[in-house]
Amino acid sequence: MTKGPMMRVLMVAPPGAGKGTQGAVIATHFGIPHIATGDLLRDHVARRTPLGQAVQAHLDQGELVPDEIVLDMVREALADAAATGGGYVLDGVPRTMAQARATYQIGLELGMTADVALHLKADDRELERRLLARAALEGRSDDTEETIRRRLRVYHELTHPIVAWYGDRGIFVTVDAMRPADQVGREILAALEVMRSFVHRSPDQPRRAVDLSGLGAAFGELPAPTP
Ligand code: ADP
Repeated sequence: MTKGPMMRVLMVAPPGAGKGTQGAVIATHFGIPHIATGDLLRDHVARRTPLGQAVQAHLDQGELVPDEIVLDMVREALADAAATGGGYVLDGVPRTMAQARATYQIGLELGMTADVALHLKADDRELERRLLARAALEGRSDDTEETIRRRLRVYHELTHPIVAWYGDRGIFVTVDAMRPADQVGREILAALEVMRSFVHRSPDQPRRAVDLSGLGAAFGELPAPTP
């Protein structure tokens, strides 16, 4: 954990890009809670709570669960995060434009809007490959071939359009998530440390979106051969 101003991060990434893994890395590094809506929902399903029973079919089919359910969860989790220092890394929200606006509103009400929207970028073939590999290991009910395709489609139709919105708000960082998880994690932490050094210094000034996805070489990769 590093000391300094607390971080508030939300992640926008397709299924299989590594939100869960990198969310945990970010949470540990900055000493902030990792709020993963997918995990919270799966926990309800496993405990067979009324909420779990209401969302199970959505999860199994790879469809989004209704906004109100997720947003109630987010509100509660952010209120808890407020009590433990105010930082957070949100993993799995927002997934729609409506959720993006609502999450921003909740953040405003609690005085804890996100400092950084982190986008993990990877192509569909790689994502499918990873999700199928995970299916063999973990047996998650939504990691079947058909459901994986549906989740990717939902991502492209509903979630990806959010990216432009955060770009306009100037809190956007894109990282190339095609590389091994430890490299991606190092790049994310380096980017977030840089962001942290100025987000709290000039919070009212418009910030520019940052695209690091072409900068692998700066983080220890071999440069691409020049033609
Ligand atoms: P992945 O990104 O790998 O698909 P998650 O664990 O983030 O996995 O989410 C799993 C499922 O939980 C989603 O397919 C969806 O059904 C549900 N879910 C999670 N977050 C949300 C959300 N913000 N809005 C609606 N549904 C959600």
